[in-house]
Amino acid sequence: MQYNKVLDNLKIYEAGKPIELVVREYGVDEKDIIKLASNENPRGCSPLVQDAVCKDVGHMNLYPDDSSYELKEALAKRFGVNSKNVIIGAGSDQIISFGVHAKANEKNSVLMAKTTFAMYEIYARQTGTTILKTPSNQHNLSEFLEIYKSREDIAIIFLCLPNNPLGECLDRDEVYKFLDEIDKDTLVIVDGAYQEYAKYIDKNKEINPKEIIQKYPNVLYLGTFSKAYGLGGMRCGYGIAKEEMIEALLKLRAPFNITTLSLKAAIVALRDEDFVQNCIKENFEQMELFEKFAKELGFDFIKSYTNFITLEFKDSKNSTQISEKLLKKGIIVRNLGAYGMNAIRVTIGTPKQNVRFMQEFRDIYLDGMEV
Ligand SMILES: *Cc1c(COP(=O)(O)O)cnc(C)c1O
Repeated sequence: MQYNKVLDNLKIYEAGKPIELVVREYGVDEKDIIKLASNENPRGCSPLVQDAVCKDVGHMNLYPDDSSYELKEALAKRFGVNSKNVIIGAGSDQIISFGVHAKANEKNSVLMAKTTFAMYEIYARQTGTTILKTPSNQHNLSEFLEIYKSREDIAIIFLCLPNNPLGECLDRDEVYKFLDEIDKDTLVIVDGAYQEYAKYIDKNKEINPKEIIQKYPNVLYLGTFSKAYGLGGMRCGYGIAKEEMIEALLKLRAPFNITTLSLKAAIVALRDEDFVQNCIKENFEQMELFEKFAKELGFDFIKSYTNFITLEFKDSKNSTQISEKLLKKGIIVRNLGAYGMNAIRVTIGTPKQNVRFMQEFRDIYLDGMEV
């Protein structure tokens, strides 16, 4: 069968390995497996959410509220915008796809950092657009600007703040200065999947969705319930933008794209901010232990504003081998070899999981090394 030409340049997204796969392929006992590969909240979600979802289980025969009225209202209130400025997606991933399909085509191009969220490129390639990347792995706005000014065809710019999979985050002020230089017909997708973490430790990183869309009508701000809120399995994310942009994106949305239970979970999750803030506090306490650990063993890490940390190795160590050895012990991390880096990304787990990771990692890392 002949398929659309654009599919020739597309790879299937490889997600973090699920626990079931490690049980099947590596024969590790399920209770010995810890998954530190997909930046999920290791403490789960608020208990209030679990109760509310269980109570709603009886309504599965009915289609969900297609307008997502209650969740949009709750998000609008949280961010001080109008509910017409909000769109809900099956994960913010789906809204990335809407944004890309609304603007990108075979005649224009899309600009992103060299090492950033893989789905930007995958969705962009579906449209036949040209992908442009900055030379540096981490976000460097002068590089973005230089490329932007050198061509006329850039339709979309992606900024991941903080950036997955590296963890770095630009300051708000430099982002604003950059946006001042960008034409209002260029869509800028500001991905705030880890904003809850970034703003907790550094107010200079905080992006206020209301402020950014008021100043820059070409910005689409994205947030998700999958990370800090602990609802990755529920697939719920949101976009905030000018009403005119939301209306364009809504044309790409299939009806009933969010399940009844996901809507309920997200609405209730927003009511338990204490839970989220406690998780974030613990996350950064644990992050310090990872930083100490890296210094002690003598490898590099990237300062992280998220719930994961990227560990970089010198040539004598290989991230693919390290990840594979960890997997045999039942510890799932993300190898960044596919990004051309000798590094792994590790989600910050519970204190207990982190102790276990560090023990196993130390053994693997020091194995064969002269000490
Ligand atoms: C996890 C993540 C998302 C989206 O996750 P969803 O589960 O689809 O909401 C978006 N952007 C980045 C950078 C992420 O890490």
